[in-house]
Amino acid sequence: MPELPEVETVRRGLEPAMQGARFSKVEARRKNLRFPLPRNFAARLQGSAVTGLGRRAKYLLADLSSGEVLLMHLGMSGSFRLAKQGKGETPGAFHHARSKDEKHDHLLFHMSSGWTVIFNDPRRFGFMKIVPRAELAREPLLRALGPEPLGNEFDAAMLAAACRGKTANLKAALSDQKIVAGLGNIYVCEALFRAHLSPKRRAATIADKGGKPNARAVALVAAIREVLHDAIAAGGSSLRDHRQTNGELGYFQHRFRVYDREGGRCTTLGCRGKIRRIVQAGRSTFYCPVCQR
Ligand SMILES: [Zn+2]
Repeated sequence: MPELPEVETVRRGLEPAMQGARFSKVEARRKNLRFPLPRNFAARLQGSAVTGLGRRAKYLLADLSSGEVLLMHLGMSGSFRLAKQGKGETPGAFHHARSKDEKHDHLLFHMSSGWTVIFNDPRRFGFMKIVPRAELAREPLLRALGPEPLGNEFDAAMLAAACRGKTANLKAALSDQKIVAGLGNIYVCEALFRAHLSPKRRAATIADKGGKPNARAVALVAAIREVLHDAIAAGGSSLRDHRQTNGELGYFQHRFRVYDREGGRCTTLGCRGKIRRIVQAGRSTFYCPVCQR
């Protein structure tokens, strides 16, 4: 599953091809992905321009001149490829390599910018939906999402208030999309490590009795922002390498400090701990039992 920084690097990669450009022609080679494609999918897009390309959690949102919004989700294995006069590239930086097999090219957007934007998805867990702009606030997929972790709304006061009185652990609280949107397993582990907080710690302990944030909440919010910014920056700078290595990406992995590093030495200065893996709510958690408390 692509994580938030991966989706953001995809958004940035698509922007030059899509922002301000019209859909000259849309080819839908299937009627369904994870869900059936919206009715008259190609006809509703053709002729309209992309006035803005945004992101909410792991959703890409293309604002259209028609007054509708094209909502795109990569699912497990989805990716976009850009093609222009024989040149090709795959925007975004993925932990797992993306398919380039043309038999999984399901949607082709021929844009007036000269670029063709190709949606490839071998497992077809990705999906697209067209929603009128005016109804976006009521859209069920987006309605229940908490604040964006990189937005102003997300701060220590908000996080502490959301965790107040919670008996759940911090791993579960940060994985809850209603508390903060789009943080996946990898970045929850990495942020807790950077904040030196145990994933097993009760979420309520980042707030005082009145729900006000303590130093742990402040450290946690800073760590979440920092780890996401670092990952996005790494994705942005690696686009060139990505093309050269034919999609075989492993560069993210060596940037992880705990994720997938079971038995490895802790990188915290002065800490002699070894990274441990435990299972919480059916997912692996990686952490240092010595410096994460
Ligand atoms: Zn440690």
